[in-house]
Amino acid sequence: MDYRAVEGAREFVARLDHGSDWRAQIESFAADEDIEAAFFVGLGAVQDAEFYFYDQDEQEYYPERFDEPLEVASCVGNISNLDGEPFAHTHAVCSREDGTSLAGHLNSGTVFAGELYVREFDTSLHREHDETTDLDLWPL
Ligand code: ZN
Repeated sequence: MDYRAVEGAREFVARLDHGSDWRAQIESFAADEDIEAAFFVGLGAVQDAEFYFYDQDEQEYYPERFDEPLEVASCVGNISNLDGEPFAHTHAVCSREDGTSLAGHLNSGTVFAGELYVREFDTSLHREHDETTDLDLWPL
């Protein structure tokens, strides 16, 4: 395991805009506030969602789209830099009306309502291509 000590910096609470994309708003906020390293948690609801499932054998992401109202029961993610832009790596557990859940790497979702807590770190993290996984990971 590679690691690095970080110092906590600013903290934010945020309310996501109805009708806008869940992840894009986080990235826009990170760009506005010059955040280059952070973790966040969130909850709320979306009107639809697209998860990406990463096939570890093929090393490809496959989208799974759900056009239905979903409760964002839990969302966790981090913000770092990818190709010079803020990237919000976002995972979520979303529940359906009957209480069953969908979960995974959240690529996008149209916000019905959402609340976030963001903790910035006083450092920058830049993702780089990792040969083993073919993913963009943190070189620490
Ligand atoms: Zn992921």
